[in-house]
Amino acid sequence: MLRAQDLVLDYRSGHSVAHAVNTVSLAVEGGSFIGLIGPSGSGKSSLMYLLSGLKRPTRGNVIFEGQEYSSMSMPGLMSLRRHRFGFVFQQHFLINYLSALENVMVGAVKRNHETAAYAQELLRRVGLSDKMRKRPYELSIGERQRVAVARAMVHKPAVVFADEPTASLDQATGHEVISLLAEYRSQGSGSVVVVTHDPNMLTGADRVLQMRDGQLN
Ligand code: ADP
Ligand code: MG
Repeated sequence: MLRAQDLVLDYRSGHSVAHAVNTVSLAVEGGSFIGLIGPSGSGKSSLMYLLSGLKRPTRGNVIFEGQEYSSMSMPGLMSLRRHRFGFVFQQHFLINYLSALENVMVGAVKRNHETAAYAQELLRRVGLSDKMRKRPYELSIGERQRVAVARAMVHKPAVVFADEPTASLDQATGHEVISLLAEYRSQGSGSVVVVTHDPNMLTGADRVLQMRDGQLN
């Protein structure tokens, strides 16, 4: 469903070049939970940015459902991301003056009664049924991250990309967030790609890819 071929991403500053991603090929099957693990600076985030079209590779290509990113315009790629992908980051990036429910609706592509009902269902599923009207600052860090996970799923994306989603959380709360992501894959809704440096978070993954110095091994 999602395929990368010989991806290279170089960062150039002055005369020095950092090979953040160095000739990586991989395939993400539909409905799978892929873990991407490796030390800090190994290129995990860079690879995720390439797979999700947030960055253009120096060389190589990414193909999603038969379409090559390199053949798409910037707005076309933006629209693909908005409609087909969901994102969770270490920071939740919630809007402080909106309620939890309104924050989830930010991720919705269509704002109608059906989506609003689904947003509420997601918040119930992540254990926040009694906190839908709360603002982010009234929630714990773990609760905020669960709102961010619901926001990433509300438009039923084909792939949810999560970059260190548990890095600010304690182990127990981290596991809760990961199981919500794993559950999304189990329901047959889509695939999940989780980037982390903590192997404990990937016990439920279908496949774990190890990254080191820009390469998979
Ligand atoms: P990870 O997510 O595994 O910590 P990154 O993808 O963030 O790794 O970084 C991979 C490498 O690319 C590192 O050596 C990092 O210093 C370098 N890098 C990342 N972002 C930039 C940037 N914007 N400019 C220059 N170098 C960068
Ligand atoms: Mg990173």
